Amino acid sequence: MSAPVQEREGGQVTASTAMKYVYFFGGGKAEGDGKMKDTLGGKGAGLAEMTNVGLPVPPGFTIQTEACREYMRGKLSSEVDHQMNEALARLEKLQGQQLGGGSNPLLVSVRSGAKFSMPGMMDTILNLGLNDESVEALAARTQNPRFAYDSYRRLIQMFGNVVLDIEKHHFEEVFDGKKKQRKVKLDTELDAKALNEIIAEYKKVVKKHAKIDFPQRPLEQLVMARDAVFRSWQNDRAKVYRRMNNIDDMLGTAVNVQAMVFGNLGETSGTGVGFTRNPATGKKEFWGEFLMNAQGEDVVSGVRTPMPIIQLEKIMPAVYNDLRSITTRMEKHYRDMQDFEFTIQDGRLYMLQTRNGKRTGMAAARVAIDMVNEGLISKDEAIFRVEPNQLVEFLFPRVDEKALKAESVLTKGLPASPGAAVGQVVFTADDAVAMVQKGKMKKVILVRGETTPEDIHGMEVAAGILTSRGGMSSHAAVVTRGMGKCCVAGAGDVKVDEKKKEVRVAGQTFKEGDWLSLDGTTGRVIKGQVPLLPGDPNDPLLSEFMRLAEPYRTMKVRANADIPRDAKQARAFGAEGIGLCRTEHMFFAEDRLPHMRTMILADNEKDRRAALKKLLPMQRSDFEGLFQAMDGFGVTIRTLDPPLHEFLPSRESLLVEIARLEITKPKAPKLKQLRKLLERVEELHELNPMLGHRGCRLGITYPEITEMQARAIIEAAVNVSRKGFKVLPEIMIPLTASLKEMKNQADVVRRVADEVFREKGTKVEYLVGTMIELPRAALMAGEIAKEAEFFSFGTNDLTQTTFGFSRDDVNKILPDYIKLGILKQDPFAVLDQEGVGELIKMAVSRGRATRPNLKIGICGEHGGEPESVKFCHRVGLNYVSCSPFRVLTARLAAAQAAAEEKKGLSGGATK
Ligand code: PEP
Ligand code: MG
Repeated sequence: MSAPVQEREGGQVTASTAMKYVYFFGGGKAEGDGKMKDTLGGKGAGLAEMTNVGLPVPPGFTIQTEACREYMRGKLSSEVDHQMNEALARLEKLQGQQLGGGSNPLLVSVRSGAKFSMPGMMDTILNLGLNDESVEALAARTQNPRFAYDSYRRLIQMFGNVVLDIEKHHFEEVFDGKKKQRKVKLDTELDAKALNEIIAEYKKVVKKHAKIDFPQRPLEQLVMARDAVFRSWQNDRAKVYRRMNNIDDMLGTAVNVQAMVFGNLGETSGTGVGFTRNPATGKKEFWGEFLMNAQGEDVVSGVRTPMPIIQLEKIMPAVYNDLRSITTRMEKHYRDMQDFEFTIQDGRLYMLQTRNGKRTGMAAARVAIDMVNEGLISKDEAIFRVEPNQLVEFLFPRVDEKALKAESVLTKGLPASPGAAVGQVVFTADDAVAMVQKGKMKKVILVRGETTPEDIHGMEVAAGILTSRGGMSSHAAVVTRGMGKCCVAGAGDVKVDEKKKEVRVAGQTFKEGDWLSLDGTTGRVIKGQVPLLPGDPNDPLLSEFMRLAEPYRTMKVRANADIPRDAKQARAFGAEGIGLCRTEHMFFAEDRLPHMRTMILADNEKDRRAALKKLLPMQRSDFEGLFQAMDGFGVTIRTLDPPLHEFLPSRESLLVEIARLEITKPKAPKLKQLRKLLERVEELHELNPMLGHRGCRLGITYPEITEMQARAIIEAAVNVSRKGFKVLPEIMIPLTASLKEMKNQADVVRRVADEVFREKGTKVEYLVGTMIELPRAALMAGEIAKEAEFFSFGTNDLTQTTFGFSRDDVNKILPDYIKLGILKQDPFAVLDQEGVGELIKMAVSRGRATRPNLKIGICGEHGGEPESVKFCHRVGLNYVSCSPFRVLTARLAAAQAAAEEKKGLSGGATK
């Protein structure tokens, strides 16, 4: 990745041992290029590429990610300082300026830039190089002292917060105090003198809280800022963001040091951001917003609401046309929709950034299809332009327009991120997390004036986000679009009082806990709980995109569904069968639980059979519903799996109830029943039920349970096939570890099936197979396959038993494991390809050695997780099975896996 420095000495090329840490860009040429994202980060690689293609990019240099990794290890090489100083000298020479010195001082920005974009998660420092002297030089040169002092106070504030860890409010108090004293409302109404006074106060804040003077030496500022950016890789919000987006904690960030250009020099200066297509819908339209006389942070932070970019055409037509032609060129160059940032300084356009833009799932599908039609990309590429997880957006709820009363619509903000959400209002990210975690509120709407990166944890748990300030590129808008979460931003009529915890809109006041609904597709803010309709799996755009992707897919996708309603839903999403029906879920229904309990309480086989007989018709009718819904597709039904005590009340609740009755009604017959129940609960009690009397062990000790279930399945299959449906039952035995267990249960099933066929005079085809959920099952797969006609990996249990982690309690340790880098991600969510995956590979090869056309699938949670689905494709599974709402995701991941194989690529688990 990182090339050693090549030096020319006396005509000879010698490779120095020094690592190349710093890459220069400027003067039409860059040392790096756009492919070097690992080394230069996304932003650094982009700046290099933009420079190389001749865009007006302010020059600078990138300190590569290896330096950050060294910094994290506490071993930053002195070579980094050395190369940085050289690059700075080169920058000063190119600009004819000196960092923070002379009559025309060079000022720089210092920004983070990781391989994967993490918007707003890490730190940035602007105007670096200003000090007590250079601020005067800047004032004189620009003849704009107000601008110079404002830049200096911004530097002290940012530097104080980011580098010296001084809380923002200390600065804000000074600033707001000055505004009050001067009786002004807007920041821009503070004159040079007032700003100068603020600078003096800010310096006192620095001295008081950081116990040092604000550093005056520009180079010292630069080194401190660089190190702070390295540290910001490890801040909490960056960590949360990485966890949510599966980004490796060890990548580190690069640091970009770049000559400043100013959008706040006056009315011929400005700054803005934009996209070459609409990031919410994907429509091909030039899309963006800008502010005149402002710095970039004013646009992105949402503090001031910017103007639509189209208005720039009127204000500065030449700059607007330049911007359009540059960004169109960049879209063609990168062959993808671009997200760009620009600054206009004294009427001259500078491009600060252009990169592939983040977009909603719907926009991603639209752009992919349009770009194929425009001849810009091939179909092979287009199917990778949508992330499999993004497809769930098509299934997002929408407002039920028929049920919506016009008067409930309170106001309209910007449709920042589509979908609809209903929830109770909270005003801080911490409250959002607390309410949801404590179960006080199920769904919350986080209402803020504007969101900042510090709100990320609250945004993660919220059903929807509402902000009163900020545009379509504000933090709230960008982050929610990435999360696929509903957001209405910049709703100016909404007055948020975060201190009082209330929001006023349309003459009404809403307090914490009140209900609001949001429509992120239209921007409507609605009073109360508006009924929502489920998303539309037949959305024409979705269908068009899936028609592009589906021809690649070779692996089937099934759904985990226990009841006919879910099975129908899954079919609508394109499921090709049921990969797991957990029959125990059918027993929890109100009308069934009493029979189940009678069965469990029976102390002899006769009574047990009598109770099972009552359950039989209920199970049979459920199975009939499933077979009908899955006409022509396989339906895998698992025999009873969980330990029996799960169907009984808890020991504690029984003790309480018994104690109560003993006092209030000591003669009640119920007391006797409860004591018997308690006795049975105590008999069934296990110290470690997950490794206890469950799975096939139940069916082996109580064969009558397997018999009843096999009968219900086969009778249902015969009944439904007589009605003309094509039925393909697959009976699955859980938690086997040996051939003998498998044979024991398969014999029961086959015996009962033969009985039913004789009784009914009709046969149906069926299979008997097993789940592979224990390491021993994977090891013995060759043997087990002698009896099992199919395998399905139960990777929830297989992960549990391979790691020895309890799947129910792992959260006690997981956060620390991830923080310490012991695990990259939750292995119960993303398949551990190295360990559990190795067992899967072994079981596949051993199983197929015995039975070459053994059908193999997966039905653990991983069956709907894109990277895990791709792994399943690579190891030759026939299908994955997942919850209905992940079927679309799995279909696209499987298509991408096949396309990757065609191209000779192989995926990894973590970004
Ligand atoms: C599994 O263990 O992966 C599985 C699908 O079964 P359950 O989650 O019901 O234990
Ligand atoms: Mg299991």
